[in-house]
Amino acid sequence: MIRRQICVFCGSRPGDDPRFAAATRDFGRRLAGGGRRLVYGGGSFGLMGTLADAVLDAGGEVTGVIPRFLATAEVAHPRVADMRLVGDMHERKALMAELSDAFVAMPGGFGTLEELFEAITWGQLKIHAKPVGILNVDGYFDALLAFLDRCFDDGFIKPKYRSLYVVASTPGDLLDAIDAVPSDTADPARGIEKI
Ligand code: AMP
Repeated sequence: MIRRQICVFCGSRPGDDPRFAAATRDFGRRLAGGGRRLVYGGGSFGLMGTLADAVLDAGGEVTGVIPRFLATAEVAHPRVADMRLVGDMHERKALMAELSDAFVAMPGGFGTLEELFEAITWGQLKIHAKPVGILNVDGYFDALLAFLDRCFDDGFIKPKYRSLYVVASTPGDLLDAIDAVPSDTADPARGIEKI
């Protein structure tokens, strides 16, 4: 099942290695080329800005969702016409989730990690039934994925929840992996199971 509305979390900074921006541009071009829409945090800096520019340059569609307090002239991306202004970070995440049918995390910092883990956690709680993908550019997430292995090994996450996220090192492989996730893996109607 092709997921067309892709919510991407990524750094508001570019990172030090130019490979992060290169992978971001590749991902943006693929989103646009595949007729998918980017939903993101609306920023103009760092990988966020690079991603939105890549999608727009390739003729694709972008929706930004940004809290008013962040949407000052230098932060909200001036080229994104569909910019949704919301009251706070909670509203932002709720709207980003509502507008999307898959989540992707790319390299980033605290904000990106917080958004990634909320998407995974809400999948675990069956609040949503949307795939979560991690774009592991140049092994950026290797240490985090190893830590998650530890969480599974030590019994803090049930083995079946490995399916809550997919990982790939290239944009094309990640989009294929997201589309391959069965649509019924987390039916919100089922509600949460007993611990
Ligand atoms: P970080 O990874 O800490 O750079 O944070 C990036 C993530 O947090 C993005 O996916 C955004 O949704 C959000 N975010 C953090 N800073 C900004 C900003 N200045 N403008 C817009 N969104 C931001």
